[in-house]
Formats: sequence, C-alpha cells, structure tokens
Amino acid sequence: MTARVIAVVGAGLAGLRTAEAVRRAGWTERIVVVGDEPRMPYNRPPLSKKILLDGTGSHDQVALRLRPSEHETEWRLGNRVVRSDLDARTLWLADGSSLVYDGLVAASGVTARRLPEAVGGVRRVLRTVDDAVALTTALTAGTRVVVIGAGFIGCEVASAAVARGCEVSVVALDAAPMTVPLGPMVGAELGRRHAGAGVRFHLGQGVTSVGEDLVVLTDGTRLGADLVVEAIGSRPNTQWLADNGLDLADGVVCDARLRMGGTPAAVAVGDVARFPNAHFDDVPRRVEHWQIAADTALHAARTLVADLDAGEPPAAFGTVPAFWSDQGVVSIRSFGMPGLADTSAVLEGDLTGEAAIGYSRDGALVGVVLLGLAKQAGAHLRRLTAELETARAGSRT
Ligand SMILES: Cc1cc2nc3c(=O)[nH]c(=O)nc-3n(C[C@H](O)[C@H](O)[C@H](O)COP(=O)(O)OP(=O)(O)OC[C@H]3O[C@@H](n4cnc5c(N)ncnc54)[C@H](O)[C@@H]3O)c2cc1C
Repeated sequence: MTARVIAVVGAGLAGLRTAEAVRRAGWTERIVVVGDEPRMPYNRPPLSKKILLDGTGSHDQVALRLRPSEHETEWRLGNRVVRSDLDARTLWLADGSSLVYDGLVAASGVTARRLPEAVGGVRRVLRTVDDAVALTTALTAGTRVVVIGAGFIGCEVASAAVARGCEVSVVALDAAPMTVPLGPMVGAELGRRHAGAGVRFHLGQGVTSVGEDLVVLTDGTRLGADLVVEAIGSRPNTQWLADNGLDLADGVVCDARLRMGGTPAAVAVGDVARFPNAHFDDVPRRVEHWQIAADTALHAARTLVADLDAGEPPAAFGTVPAFWSDQGVVSIRSFGMPGLADTSAVLEGDLTGEAAIGYSRDGALVGVVLLGLAKQAGAHLRRLTAELETARAGSRT
C-alpha cells in the first residue's frame, strides 16, 4: 500500500514544529515539507537582536535543532508552492512538479510589507537571515540610518544601529512607537527612552520619496540617509491558497481547531493563521509571536492526525500569547492581547523604570506588559491566565 502524505507548506518554525508534532501524535507515514527559502528552518528573533548587534552572523548560528525523527521528513527546499486545489488535495510547485497529499499544513508565514515602488530608492527589509547579514555589515559607525516604521522590528533595528554607532532616525505615522500593540502610554515612555539613547523620531509622518541619500517626509522634512530600512508590518503568504473558497483577507481563517475554513485534514499554523483563541473570544486573529508558531503547531498536528485517522480531535484552541522584545534601553515582555484593551494602568513599579502594566477590556484583564521586571514574569503570567480562565468559565455559564 502507498504511504499517505502530510504536506507542510513553509519550512519555518511553525512548519518544523508541526512536522515534529504530527510524529508525536502517532503519524508514521510520509511528511513532505516544501520551503521556498533554500535553507533548513531557523529562528528569526536573533536576526534583529544578536546578528545586528554582533555585526556578523550566519544561518548556522540561528538554525533550529532537528530532532532525530525530522531526518525522516522529506525536505523540498528552494521550491515554492504556487497553487493548490484543496478538493483534489494537490499542490503545484514552482519547479513544475505537483504533490498529492492526504493532509495539509499551511505554515507559509508572512513577508515584509512594502511601500509603493513609486516611493523609489533602495529600501531594505528584515525578514530572512540573508536580510540580517546584509544589514549588519552596513551598520558601520557614523552611517546615517533611516528606519521607516516604529513597531517592534523597527525599534529593535533602531536600537541595534544606535549601539553600533550609527546616526538613527525613525519615521512613523503613529504618535508614539509601538502604539498599536502596547498603547499610547507605554509607547510614549518607550519613545522617551529611545530618544534618550540617541534615536531621532519623526512621528505622525509618512515618507513621500527615497532618493540616493535622502528620505523626504510628508511634512517636507528631508533626512540625509546612507541606509533606509523599511519595517512597516507584514503581508501573509496566502497567494498559493487562492481560488479554494477560503477567507484570505488577512491570513487564512481557521476554525476553533485550526482547520482552514473548516476543511477536514487541512490546518494552518504560525504567522499565516487567523484563528479564534478560546481564552478571549471567537474572533479569528493573526498573532505574529514565536510562541504562537509553536503552540498552534502542537494543536493543529493533533487535529490533523485525528482527521486522517478518524480519531477524536482536540478541544478548541486556546493559549495565552507571549512575546518578548529586547531593545537595548528596555526589555519588553508581553502576555495576552494588550492590543484588545480599552484601558491600561500600571500594576507594579514605575513606568519610567521597571514596571508591569495591565491592559483591560470592558474591565477584564486581557494583557500584561513588563518593562524589565523579568523575575516577576511568572507571577504576572499566572495571574493573567487565572483571570482569563475565570472569565472564560463565567462566559460558559
Ligand atoms: C526580525 C524578526 C524578529 C522577531 N523577533 C521576535 C521576538 O523577539 N519575539 C517573538 O515572539 N517573535 C519574534 N518574531 C516573530 C517570529 O519569528 C515569528 O512569529 C515566527 O518566525 C513565525 O514562524 P512561521 O513558521 O509561522 O513563519 P516564518 O518563520 O515566516 O516561516 C514561513 C516560511 O514559509 C516560506 N514560504 C512562504 N510561502 C511559501 C510557499 N508558497 N511555498 C513554500 N514556502 C513558502 C517562507 O519563505 C518562510 O521560510 C520576529 C520575527 C522577525 C522577522
């Protein structure tokens, strides 16, 4: 009898963790992972931290360790899935080949979002290890760096560039850095700290054009620039899933067990998945966190193997999202979904030093952000988890 196939599209963290987890869930047949990068899976968080700070780096330094069972997985790297037919359970690859599967995992992540081409100039992004290596060699002392975007990645790049002796400007439409995920109060404080370290902010501004050594802002300000880094968010890699009747408005919408559009034996994981989280509500959202890639992988693998082997699928997916960001002037940890909150207040410490900030929606705690206070992280996570579970139990009665 021919062995059945689980096809994984995307050889990143979520793809690797799902391949591992389907084995642990009892799958002994074939697993084929197709990845468009020509490399085995690697860790992205050190790209904007260690590699940019060190001035050097390589894939070997960030490669994810393979468990022995992963050597049985078939890796088709440097090849892209260009099209899929979920009814016919078939994928078509850029090299002209096709792959018929029994179970499918969408683990294709995101790509850096870009300003329109008409803006012009050379604008770099930071998503892959090659991006990081190219960027770090350009961060020499005195280099005038303009970072477009003041989210987590923009601020990590700015912080590393300042540490490397560059002159750094950050341009962003928002009134403060990291406002969308962390809110205006914490954003303003983080802006103050980065400015104290030497970052020049141009907030409430867009970019109209980029020239050879110049960035022009919407208010007419002209910034001298030797290096321009664009960090304005991401675009989910869902093109290959088009024409299957799925909701691909922002990632691929999943049901409570991470099945794409409720399709049996077809799941999505990591940055590309838009899923409801039972700890919060039934609204599907994408969450670009390292830990979410790992958690969705474990859950989706159990759904997939249950669907393929007529087993009992797991309960609805629920997790407390967790994220960290090291930015020189501050080490941030985020638990839950602070972006959902309508109010925030300092729970512990002092906002200008080390602090825990609580984020609430309709009076219920939905997130906690720590500036420093690493030793208290466990206690704050436990408190948030308990409050979310109590609210969840209450909503069931
Ligand atoms: C610079 C940087 C710093 C970060 N720092 C942090 C941090 O400090 N803390 C934190 O929690 N998270 C951080 N993250 C986010 C975290 O790395 C991601 O959440 C995680 O990598 C998601 O994994 P993934 O496997 O879903 O996606 P990815 O890692 O993007 O992997 C998806 C893979 O699929 C490939 N692919 C796409 N389309 C196709 C196709 N059609 N066919 C084949 N292959 C395809 C992609 O090229 C990619 O290799 C950071 C991310 C970046 C970029």
